[in-house]
Amino acid sequence: MLLEIEGLNAHYGRIHALKSASLTVGEGELVALVGANGAGKTTLLRTLSGVHPATSGTIKFEGRDITRMPAHQRVAEGLIQVPEGRQLFGPQSVEDNLRLGAYRRGGNPERDLEDLYAMFPVLKVKRNQPAGTLSGGQQQMVAIGRALMAKPRVLLLDEPSMGLAPLLVGEIFNAVERLKEQGTTILLVEQNAYAALAIADRGYVIETGEITLHDSGAALLANERVKQAYLGL
Ligand code: ATP
Repeated sequence: MLLEIEGLNAHYGRIHALKSASLTVGEGELVALVGANGAGKTTLLRTLSGVHPATSGTIKFEGRDITRMPAHQRVAEGLIQVPEGRQLFGPQSVEDNLRLGAYRRGGNPERDLEDLYAMFPVLKVKRNQPAGTLSGGQQQMVAIGRALMAKPRVLLLDEPSMGLAPLLVGEIFNAVERLKEQGTTILLVEQNAYAALAIADRGYVIETGEITLHDSGAALLANERVKQAYLGL
């Protein structure tokens, strides 16, 4: 497995936000972590990227224990997160925002920019516009594009559909699915369980800090408990 989380615990003071969570992501896999508001999804991502400390448990990346590795070093290793709420530089152009993703690895990003524009043609059309003037869905594409410019080994997506109109949610999930088809390894954290599980190879359900179910995306979509609790069926 490329990424192996085992028995991971995290706290905020006395709040036990992550309770012995275990999760794996294989090379080329698209894995979804779904759960309600406040279930602990963001905490798992923050602990994984190193911005929140694990109390116990282990995180292995390419077989190496990175549980105590500083956050910036994890980024250098290729664990690249697209934060919830996008966090673009609004007055800067779309292209400048995309180029920022590549600053760390040096080299010539022109080729990668062209690949990215081929995947998201709308970003090429709007490349000289201030990122802040784009629609929510397009801004999410810029945020994902910026992360891709860093050449992730694993792309960590935190609620990419948040705050988007249903039509745009579809567009974003299509884009995520295309990334997977091109070989990107993805951990997708989502409240929108239906959309996430529909494109995921495997999925995990997290409830009050605990992972309670894991199975293939299709099996979870068909699971009665998942249907009732998360799909409104
Ligand atoms: P959301 O969809 O709202 O992002 P989530 O599933 O990502 O929810 P977390 O943000 O990980 O959930 O929160 C898990 C638990 O930890 C919640 O009970 C939350 O109130 C608590 N929590 C999160 N951040 C903090 C913090 N900085 N201080 C104290 N408690 C926190």
